[in-house]
Amino acid sequence: MSPFDKELLERVLYRCSCGSRKPISSLYFCRHCLDLRCGFCVSHEVDSHYCPNCMENMPSAEARLKKNRCANCFDCPHCGHTLSTRASSVSVPSPDDPTKHIAKKVYYLACAFCRWTSREIGLPDQTVASGAWPEQNNPASERIATLQEHYRTIAQREKMEKESRRFLGRKLSYLHLSDKYGLSSVAARKRSGLSSLALGGGLAGTGREDMGRPLDIAPATAVNLNEINDLPTELLTDPIDLYNVTSLEQRFAQLEFQPESVDNIYPTHKHLMIKRSQRCRRCEHNLSKPEYNPTSIKFKIQLAAYYHVPELVIFKIDPMQIGTTSKFIIKVVNPTNSGSVLTFLTLQQYQAVREEEDRNRKDKGEEDKNVSAINPLRQPSIVEATDQRMDIATARVELPTSKVYLPPRDDAAEFDEGGVDLAGHVDDRDVVMWRKSNKVGVQLKVHPEQAEVLVGFAIQYEYTNTIFAHDSKKEVRTANITVPVFLKLGTIQQN
Ligand SMILES: [Zn+2]
Ligand SMILES: [Zn+2]
Ligand SMILES: [Zn+2]
Ligand SMILES: [Zn+2]
Repeated sequence: MSPFDKELLERVLYRCSCGSRKPISSLYFCRHCLDLRCGFCVSHEVDSHYCPNCMENMPSAEARLKKNRCANCFDCPHCGHTLSTRASSVSVPSPDDPTKHIAKKVYYLACAFCRWTSREIGLPDQTVASGAWPEQNNPASERIATLQEHYRTIAQREKMEKESRRFLGRKLSYLHLSDKYGLSSVAARKRSGLSSLALGGGLAGTGREDMGRPLDIAPATAVNLNEINDLPTELLTDPIDLYNVTSLEQRFAQLEFQPESVDNIYPTHKHLMIKRSQRCRRCEHNLSKPEYNPTSIKFKIQLAAYYHVPELVIFKIDPMQIGTTSKFIIKVVNPTNSGSVLTFLTLQQYQAVREEEDRNRKDKGEEDKNVSAINPLRQPSIVEATDQRMDIATARVELPTSKVYLPPRDDAAEFDEGGVDLAGHVDDRDVVMWRKSNKVGVQLKVHPEQAEVLVGFAIQYEYTNTIFAHDSKKEVRTANITVPVFLKLGTIQQN
């Protein structure tokens, strides 16, 4: 089984602050709120655009201008694989002496996967490798450009009106709206039997600002069905050569043209990809920010929960039976560079801790701190999960009452022959089964009540916050963090 298998990842689930249950690999840990964040509780932002083939990156304005496609790289219109440029030589008459032939280098596009080449559709070979490949002209591009321009003007005007409304407190009325979108003038002309007029001209007389290029916004006119040609009868009589008919994927790859036969497919410009950064929705600090350079796989900021929250792994389960108590061992790994003390809480105890925290926060009047630090106008929010139930456990779990010391992570521990430094803590032999550097095997007991065995409890550990270490005024701060976890121990085979 692969370590990325969904089934395997979902054996151990952590409960995010929003209530959803996620494996540790899909969680973030906000060092500022000291809470878990999942994909729903972070805001995703586009950091940079880049081409996955030539690795060129570009600012978002340029990417928008290029319709999020790379100018130099192409996808195979037949299979979607990246096309590569091939060189070959052809003999052409020499410009000096037309009777002689000289070799000339030419380039064409070829797919290494399905062997499609640009020669198949009759694209002329190019003399430069970067290839100024002929582009197809979108038949509707003119119309789209006019519409875009028109709506941009509307958006601009709306923005201005919003700003003025903030001062005047004016309300929108139907008349106002219908006038703005030019509907009243179109309707009036329709009623009086005049052809719908270009909008720009129509509004010019009303004293409003000009709407840019004239635009025909009249609805499409009805067409008599009898005037439309039926499908060609050859479709019913002639056998179809499916090799020459494009598939739906091939057609949708070229939405503007939607070619029906394979000799009309054209190489498509490669889609750009993006690098994303994630921000905590509550405090708006970055939780994950990649390096700008597209070739780099490093991160400037990477607050994955995997580096901050103890990782639980189901290590060993004794045979289980309904109604009897069995032992199981979990491996707990401390990923941080500071030691910590781990306590196990039942979910009831967890609820009590949470309520206590909420009360404390309310007493201190920290409720209003919800306002964003970066943009005070914005009210950051956490989207709560619809399924926040805590009572999904199907088996009772007996938790150790003693605390377990978690030694800090030490990359040199592999080469250390000595035992684990417990920093003065004494292990409970009934709880701690084994230790190895920052890993510890903890024994728990389970009392299954159903065939599906799922236990739930909370881990509480001491987290050392290192962001304050740089600030000389503050000492390194520690905090107690409580995270509910759910372990899927397996299914009891009944026979
Ligand atoms: Zn969440
Ligand atoms: Zn490219
Ligand atoms: Zn191909
Ligand atoms: Zn935060």
